[in-house]
Amino acid sequence: MQALFLYNTLTRKKEEFKALNPPFVGLYVCGPTVYSDVHLGNCRTFVSFDLIYRYLLHLGYKVRYVRNVTDAGHLEGDRDEGDDKFAKKAKLEQLEPMEIVQKYTVGFRDVMRDFNTLPPSIEPTATGHISEQIEMIKEIISNGLAYETSGTVYFDVEKYSKEFNYGQLTNRKLEELLEGTRELGGQDEKKGRLDFALWIKAKPETIMRWPSPWGWGFPGWHIECSAMSRKYLGDTFDIHGGGMDLQATHHTNEIAQSQACYHKTPVNYWLHTNMLTVNGTRMSKSAGNGFLPGELFTGNHPLLERGYKPMAVRFFMLQTHYRSTLDFSNEALQASEKGFERLMDSYKTLQTLSASPSSNEDIQTIENKCYEAMNDDFNTSVLIAHLFDAARIINSANDKKTNLTQADIDLLKKLYNDFLFDVLGLKQEESNNRLDAALEKVMELVLDMRAKAKTGKDFKLSDEIRDKLIDAGIQIKDTKEGSTWKV
Ligand code: AMP
Ligand code: ZN
Repeated sequence: MQALFLYNTLTRKKEEFKALNPPFVGLYVCGPTVYSDVHLGNCRTFVSFDLIYRYLLHLGYKVRYVRNVTDAGHLEGDRDEGDDKFAKKAKLEQLEPMEIVQKYTVGFRDVMRDFNTLPPSIEPTATGHISEQIEMIKEIISNGLAYETSGTVYFDVEKYSKEFNYGQLTNRKLEELLEGTRELGGQDEKKGRLDFALWIKAKPETIMRWPSPWGWGFPGWHIECSAMSRKYLGDTFDIHGGGMDLQATHHTNEIAQSQACYHKTPVNYWLHTNMLTVNGTRMSKSAGNGFLPGELFTGNHPLLERGYKPMAVRFFMLQTHYRSTLDFSNEALQASEKGFERLMDSYKTLQTLSASPSSNEDIQTIENKCYEAMNDDFNTSVLIAHLFDAARIINSANDKKTNLTQADIDLLKKLYNDFLFDVLGLKQEESNNRLDAALEKVMELVLDMRAKAKTGKDFKLSDEIRDKLIDAGIQIKDTKEGSTWKV
């Protein structure tokens, strides 16, 4: 097994990855809250973990990848206040809360398929694990680190902090955290400013509610991940991931819940993805700058000059390392689209290359560098730069400016299959949808008319057709065998 180095958010260091029980790896990623469509920022996080999952599989690990679906217990406010997001949306769309859950879960899975992500091994839901969450809360109460106030159970952060380091994930002291939180008001039921809800009492109108030792209610958001990761991956597992925005509260509280319940560190490596931004502002549902993947594919959004295909978008995301911010712009996406096409074209060229008896290239070194890049905290940005080197060699072999042996050609094919398709999860865009098929037919007709114009020496018309197509973003190439076109 290759030495793989991961940047661990908890220790703020790059560490050699040691799987708990090699070759088995437990990977848990916080999934979507399915009360609305996922935006492109959410997709960036899930595509990043798909890449990590794919690379671990590629290295030969047996990975159990758990990505939950949050389908209950999410209030609008960060401080256990505000409306339940599912109930509010259900009222707005005049649906049952579970219809909302179903609608957006199906939508999420469709989008994940568009981006060619592999399905996780298990996708557990919060509503399917109420009893596990209740059991865990009971244990935390019996360990003296949570308390009940009129049907709601709170985690006692200050008491927990006497024994454990609550702010370890963001490297902050309790005093600092307390300073940044507002004083409790007379209305508050909790004892401490940082205390958070494990179980929330149902209001008379709450539809999604379950019986518990503390009366009818529903779980707080954080407890679901502690209960489900423990159930499927054990008390302590290898990798836990999510977006950086989850670090300070959700993941900090997950660690606290698990430690308070069974006195063990739940996770060995914490990996956090950085944010997708638009003009420097984080893309989010609340900021209103979150366009949906469907809008991106069709170009139907004021920020978009035109539509982009899912694989070009996936490539755009992977060209930046997952720990760096990625700023969205039409120019950046168009540059990625070109780069992606260049790699895919070189793959087609590779299939047609003929071997020379000797070689002037060192393909093995490129392969080694690809592994080095990925072993360095999944550096896809550097990996893609090496794949472009390979593409340059293929193109120059095609132009007879360099020579490749059959062994070189075979190794290049392996390199593309391993890294471009298997690890980066890219694929040839499918052109089987009805619009593409219709365009194919229309272009056949247009090129036929243009060929006839040329045969009849009407060069004015044939040039006009060519120029009008260029205006429409379609480029024609005339060859001896006839004309070809591309968008
Ligand atoms: P949510 O459905 O809001 O719980 O978010 C699902 C995942 O998307 C979480 O892991 C978030 O951290 C992540 N996320 C939210 N906004 C962004 C963003 N702008 N860029 C990258 N990841 C994000
Ligand atoms: Zn979570």
